[in-house]
Amino acid sequence: MMNSLKAIESGFGRKVRFVQLIFVDINGVPKGMEIPAARYEEAIEDGISFDGSSIPGFQGIEDSDLIFKADPSTYAEVPWEGIARVYGYIYKDGKPYAADPRGVLKKVIDELAKEGLTAYIGPEPEFYLLRRNGSWELHLPDGGGYFDILSLDRAREIKREIAEYMPAFGLIPEVLHHEVGNAQHEIDFRYDEALRTADNIISFKYVVKAVAERHGLYATFMPKPLHGMPGNGMHLHISLWKEGENLFIGEDGLSDTALYFIGGLLKHAKALTAVTNPTVNSYKRLVPGYEAPVYVSWGYRNRSALIRVPAFWGNGARIEYRCPDPSANPYFAFAAILMAGLDGIRHKVEPSAYVEENLYEISDDRRKRLGIETLPESLGEALEALKNDKIVRKALGGAYENFVRYKEREWEEYLAYLEANHLPKDTKRVTEWELERYFHV
Ligand code: GLU
Ligand code: MG
Ligand code: MG
Repeated sequence: MMNSLKAIESGFGRKVRFVQLIFVDINGVPKGMEIPAARYEEAIEDGISFDGSSIPGFQGIEDSDLIFKADPSTYAEVPWEGIARVYGYIYKDGKPYAADPRGVLKKVIDELAKEGLTAYIGPEPEFYLLRRNGSWELHLPDGGGYFDILSLDRAREIKREIAEYMPAFGLIPEVLHHEVGNAQHEIDFRYDEALRTADNIISFKYVVKAVAERHGLYATFMPKPLHGMPGNGMHLHISLWKEGENLFIGEDGLSDTALYFIGGLLKHAKALTAVTNPTVNSYKRLVPGYEAPVYVSWGYRNRSALIRVPAFWGNGARIEYRCPDPSANPYFAFAAILMAGLDGIRHKVEPSAYVEENLYEISDDRRKRLGIETLPESLGEALEALKNDKIVRKALGGAYENFVRYKEREWEEYLAYLEANHLPKDTKRVTEWELERYFHV
């Protein structure tokens, strides 16, 4: 153990005086404590104890002593603060703590590894950069739309600044662009192994919010901050590899493995939404007309489908799952998606509901004839589906009970709010209750 009080020499030529130990709560919101740099080695070897009683979705007060053990492979220095941050695993009574989201995903990855499989995931997180004047009246600082540049993209320098900070956190920025909504943006970064990508999503949101704040703006990843405007999605590009080979490559298109993986996702789609779209607000995004999925279907190129197969073959062969939004806890979302896909492979589930038409435009009759189902229309409906899906439940492991209980309470609080304010139960408008609760997700 390192006992000297020497600070760690920073790669940025500054002394790292403190190390922030970060884990995420049930909502995927990063939480942490700081230790003096001199304790970093202790955090790796023995772990640092903390009281988890007030962390959403963790222990009750009667039993809350937890240990955080740093995973040094995630260590990064925060360039603007002279500190470092590291992710890790949580332990309780000497064993992995069942409700730790990172631990939940690790278990699923270990299960894949037993069959020689590695999952790679590349996300496309979208966000708005907004101004607020104290109230919930949101101001859009630009009038740009998809791929607009120059004066229609007032945030272009901010995006570049974000991209320039990303490598310090181990993220490789790939594409920066204005999204469809006014003041809506997207920055894609290089795909990686699933656990690393989940960490990267947490780091990405941290950087975007920090840089926006320095420019007097708010970044929101809330799935649908503004009624009548496009929502924030977080499409996931997924492929499975074995012994260095992409298993999704087929002879002319996707392999059977990829098709079964799609079959698994479609089979479990309704339960998955409870995990990939876990907020009340998520369901205000999943409505027709905004390039967000509404129907359980798949297609090549089809952007109104739940699963799209981008036209890249060879090592780029992958599927794009379009349902997830950035309010998802990425560790839970990846665990659930991978287990659903694996179930499809194990049971050779043929994917149904192949459609290339614009699904927002076909009639209900035709949709029924094609056997296309609809995704849950509310968090309440999604939770019911989750409760009836053994595979997705199992993917959440020891976190499942806490997750369902926590989310059911969230849904009930929302319903009570609607009732108290005489709002219709199925309103697709964005309420103040949602803005209060999710603006900072
Ligand atoms: N913003 C859309 C969504 O909610 C996605 C737009 C796109 O295709 O990039 O998923
Ligand atoms: Mg996009
Ligand atoms: Mg996409």
